[in-house]
Amino acid sequence: MSQNVFEENSLIWIDGNLIKYKNANCVHVASHSLHYASSIFEGIIAFDGKVFELPRHVDRFFNSAATLGINLNLTKQNLIDAISQVIKENNYVNGLYYIRPLAWRDVEDATIKGYKDGIAHVAVMSRRLYNCLNKDISPIHLLLSSWKKPPRSCMPYDCKGSGNYLIPILSKQEARNKGLDDVLLLDCDGFVAEGGSTNSFFVKEKSLFTPYPIHCLNGITRQNIMTIAKNNGYSVIEANIRPDEIENFDELFLTGTAVGILAVASITLSSKTKIEFKKFDATNFFKQMYKERVINF
Ligand code: PMP
Repeated sequence: MSQNVFEENSLIWIDGNLIKYKNANCVHVASHSLHYASSIFEGIIAFDGKVFELPRHVDRFFNSAATLGINLNLTKQNLIDAISQVIKENNYVNGLYYIRPLAWRDVEDATIKGYKDGIAHVAVMSRRLYNCLNKDISPIHLLLSSWKKPPRSCMPYDCKGSGNYLIPILSKQEARNKGLDDVLLLDCDGFVAEGGSTNSFFVKEKSLFTPYPIHCLNGITRQNIMTIAKNNGYSVIEANIRPDEIENFDELFLTGTAVGILAVASITLSSKTKIEFKKFDATNFFKQMYKERVINF
């Protein structure tokens, strides 16, 4: 079985109660969110029981809810307490864990409109995370997806709404069908947008280039990497990057809460063009600095 499943022995917080994983079957088949993807979620890490960047994740969760008009019926402090309870009751004292708050609409309306005053359910689930902070994870092979990211006017990119993940899912399936690990996606203007569920950084000597946060989520890991770069003599340049420019860079890495910093070994642009990266010095440097930041947060 995949390592990415939620812990079968874990306790899940649902609407104020701790429920055993095997009993957490509380979504009705008529749930609005199941039909129309009107749910939101967060991805958070906790190292040795301490949560990294918790206020930013909680703010993003509430902003996502506001974007979709979801009434969470709980305060930010309630969510913080729920996360602490999940960590404590599951005894996550050592190692790296992934915490997943999720909110979904109940049975509200059989049409797409959804009621603003319907109260959502909230869950906080979790799983052990393979240690993405470790240095020895093999660099991955990317596909430049044939799917494009819709324009910002067609997709609320700051929202972690489940509906935002249709294109990432399709593109990751496309990569997997070609035997590749993950994807890089372009926006509708042909510039690099992001990975399937990660941000991207291109390295050239002491400069980091990254797409503007227009057709991608402005990830919390992305923001941390930009700070680390600026504190360590790198210039950080937000730029429009075309696929034919990728070969000019020394390194490429992806960032995200669940994966940390992912080194990229190659990107297949087409059946005829594959770019390989041989150097990982900057990537490993950022990996190390990010790890220290998470551990010492
Ligand atoms: N882009 C997308 C589409 C994502 O889902 C994520 C989160 N996995 C990211 C970027 C990275 O964001 P963060 O660093 O906040 O996890």
